[in-house]
Amino acid sequence: MKLIFATNNRHKAEELRSITGDQFAILTLEEAGIDFEIPEPYNTLEENATNKSKTIFEMTGINCFSEDTGLEVAALDGEPGVKSARYAGDDHSFEKNIDKLLTNLAGKTDSHARFRAVISLIIDGRETLFEGVCEGQITDKRRGESGFGYDPVFIPDGSNKTFAEMSMREKTQYSHRARATEKLVAFLTNLKTKH
Ligand code: IMP
Repeated sequence: MKLIFATNNRHKAEELRSITGDQFAILTLEEAGIDFEIPEPYNTLEENATNKSKTIFEMTGINCFSEDTGLEVAALDGEPGVKSARYAGDDHSFEKNIDKLLTNLAGKTDSHARFRAVISLIIDGRETLFEGVCEGQITDKRRGESGFGYDPVFIPDGSNKTFAEMSMREKTQYSHRARATEKLVAFLTNLKTKH
């Protein structure tokens, strides 16, 4: 089964393929020849994910899925949440987003946070949503070099390493994206056996 993954984020695509293996032919937007940055204008992960997959399905007619993730920090009332990618404003980068997060958390005692990933899959025009959650803590300084985004400051429950100190395989044992992807794979496998 051929599927477009509506993303330009190569880290996300690598993580996802490490879970799906070669059961499905998954193409990123670039690999599908689509040079397009899909906007994420909505206030929920679900609406942004739906918008991304619907946009690509309408454009190509090819079955596809998208994923939207937010980091929800308890002491910041769930921020940055849906704004995780643009947390530091117009001039955002992974570095600046982490700087802003650590500044806003300075002096707070509760470091609990969670990543929440939502996948929107469209098969023959019909949408199904999948969610994956990973609970953990925000560190007070960066640790590790791997991964992307907030990985250097996030420790998942059950580990004492940040995501950026883990190999991709280790991160997959804990991550929100892996949990949502496992649900996606189960759904697609079930669909394949029915056809
Ligand atoms: P997006 O809108 O789903 O692309 O993701 C929002 C932001 O969340 C990204 O820019 C990253 O900073 C962050 N993010 C998403 N997934 C992860 C992850 O697995 N680790 C660390 N940060 C992540």
